[in-house]
Amino acid sequence: MSRLWSDHVVGLTPYLPGEQVKLDNMLKLNTNEHPNGPSPRAIEAIRQAANDDLRLYPPVNSLALRQAIATWLKVEADQVFLGNGSDEILAHVFSALFLRSGRPLLMPDITYSFYTTYSTYYGVPTECIPLASDFSIRVSDYTAQREVPPAGIIFANPNAPTGRALTIVDIEAILQANPDTVVVVDEAYVDFGAQSAVKLVNQYDNLLVIQTFSKSRALAGLRVGFAVAQTGLLEALARVKDSFNSYPMDSLALAGAVASVQDHDYFEQQCQIVINAREQLAKDLIELGFEVLPSKTNFLMVSHANHSASELQQALRVQGILVRHFKQSRIDNYLRITVGSPAQCQRLCDSLKVILGRA
Ligand SMILES: *Cc1c(COP(=O)(O)O)cnc(C)c1O
Repeated sequence: MSRLWSDHVVGLTPYLPGEQVKLDNMLKLNTNEHPNGPSPRAIEAIRQAANDDLRLYPPVNSLALRQAIATWLKVEADQVFLGNGSDEILAHVFSALFLRSGRPLLMPDITYSFYTTYSTYYGVPTECIPLASDFSIRVSDYTAQREVPPAGIIFANPNAPTGRALTIVDIEAILQANPDTVVVVDEAYVDFGAQSAVKLVNQYDNLLVIQTFSKSRALAGLRVGFAVAQTGLLEALARVKDSFNSYPMDSLALAGAVASVQDHDYFEQQCQIVINAREQLAKDLIELGFEVLPSKTNFLMVSHANHSASELQQALRVQGILVRHFKQSRIDNYLRITVGSPAQCQRLCDSLKVILGRA
């Protein structure tokens, strides 16, 4: 239909999410969703909010949720910016902070692929820096002095799809070496055992941390993400947001998210369940002959010496199990497997045993 399209749409390559199929007995371990549901209090709050008040626009500044997140993270409410999923916040970040007279954006060669999608969409020039051979981010690559400071630095921590995390000391070194560059740390998986950079926000005006309710809070369907930074950076995001959609958070999402944040016990218990399942699954996969990258997330990046990743992905699919395979150089012989419940992990391992001829 390109005859009727805007010119730039012809050249767009959209982000490709893991496939979403709904078949009986299909086990989805391909998009890093939580195996269990969200806090029951979140579901109840959404039910309560489903009433005639839906005729009204939601509160324009979403203060209740920003305050709840601020209390939880020990920052101020005006240091919290909300979005319809963290992907939307990332889009605003590219538009509001990374378009700096052609200065490049630095990011790892292997990281969340949406960063490349947004770079192309907004025309942000990028410089991809190869991860070390063990797939870790080499801090010195980001602290070296350059003639022209980069417009920005972005990476996920823990990184995706590798699962490896930098320490807070590493992140502070990157911040200190780049005072005139925005450093965006995407902490989509931080609650599964990594150190958060949120505690550095008051010290560094060039730091922006992004988190999401989609993974550790089991609310991917609600579409809630947030950024934490000093107000100077968030004002730029707000200008872009209000030029685009002033009500990205709907009333039901706001109600559910507030209740989720306030249910500390459920949250901590559910994160621990996933962490325990991850450690067990890593052991079981190593026993089956897999190499397993160390992970601080709810997924494992694995490869097998005798079986190609694409062959294993296909064989698992036949058995009704979906896992993610990236056709990207350096990681095309790896599978990214979401950590499910103990029973789901068992089913995965049972299927792999059959496929590997070890049953
Ligand atoms: C899942 C994920 C996101 C997107 O989260 P939403 O809040 O669901 O949009 C962002 N960054 C990374 C690294 C992710 O894995």
